[in-house]
Amino acid sequence: MEPQRKRWKGSECDTDSWVAYPVLSDEQSQDVELIEAFAAPVLNKKETSRLVRELNILYPLNGLQHIKRVRACKEKGSPHPLEVLVCLIGDAPDMKVTSIDSLLPPDGVRHDGLGEPFVVKVPARPPLTRTQFELASKHWPTSFHEDKQVTVALRGELFSPPQKATMHMHMMTALTAAKAGKKMGMEAVGAVVVNPATERIIAVGHDCRGDNPLHHAVMVCIDLVARSQGGGCYSFDRYPACRWISPGSDTFPNVPDAEASFQPYICTGYDLYVTREPCVMCAMALVHSRIGRVFYGTTSADGALGTKFKIHTQKDLNHHFEVYRGILKSSDAILCGWC
Ligand SMILES: [Zn+2]
Repeated sequence: MEPQRKRWKGSECDTDSWVAYPVLSDEQSQDVELIEAFAAPVLNKKETSRLVRELNILYPLNGLQHIKRVRACKEKGSPHPLEVLVCLIGDAPDMKVTSIDSLLPPDGVRHDGLGEPFVVKVPARPPLTRTQFELASKHWPTSFHEDKQVTVALRGELFSPPQKATMHMHMMTALTAAKAGKKMGMEAVGAVVVNPATERIIAVGHDCRGDNPLHHAVMVCIDLVARSQGGGCYSFDRYPACRWISPGSDTFPNVPDAEASFQPYICTGYDLYVTREPCVMCAMALVHSRIGRVFYGTTSADGALGTKFKIHTQKDLNHHFEVYRGILKSSDAILCGWC
């Protein structure tokens, strides 16, 4: 069996029926947090540079380097085209400021050219995505260091049609494994580990928790990858759909390639395709086995890669990986029946 070599065409591979979206961190996904500040109109444009220089000394915007100090006035036809951010409300000497005099000490900033203050809301954190940037900029001008890959991924356009065809094929292999597991009385979840450098499948597994409650499809697949490298802890020989291929071979001999000294540490750099979002145990096993990317179909109520937790984005873990959801998600008739 060499599913990795097959090329899907036409209706066999309807890659337009699904979109792979990235599962981003909470920081990248959350709404824009706003904090209140005092701003004032710049009455004399020629004073702008001096005002900014003096305000930066009196009220430095520590931790808010993403905020621009000056913005164009939003009101059309205003006699004062510029407005300057004076200070955060929390930094003001008196939070009930009514005049620019009470905001600026006489020996700090010369008031020349500044109008009376008013309250504005500014973004508390630098935007991490284009969506956050566009929302933040509606309140106050904000700088943005765009990660173009994230922007394209959020549009669902990161993967080209040929790449999607390959992804489709790998997920179909995982679905076939899920079906085989279900026939043997297991939960209908299938998984495939692929080397993306060669598009070669390293291991295929399905849920085997009838034997052992820990043998979720992902755990089975990781153990099969380890076995392909001469390790592994378990035998899944009685499950013909669970198999591995040694990295140097073209078939599934279920014989580890002991001479392959180039083998990575378990799943380093590999991709995992799994029909259902992994649980916490499986997600942590993916961290420990150094998986490169995870692609899953449907979400799970206890899912640890987006739904209940986002293990792959935990900063205090020593390995992180990309996660994409929605692969073949529109194949509801298949997925709902099996998972
Ligand atoms: Zn699991």
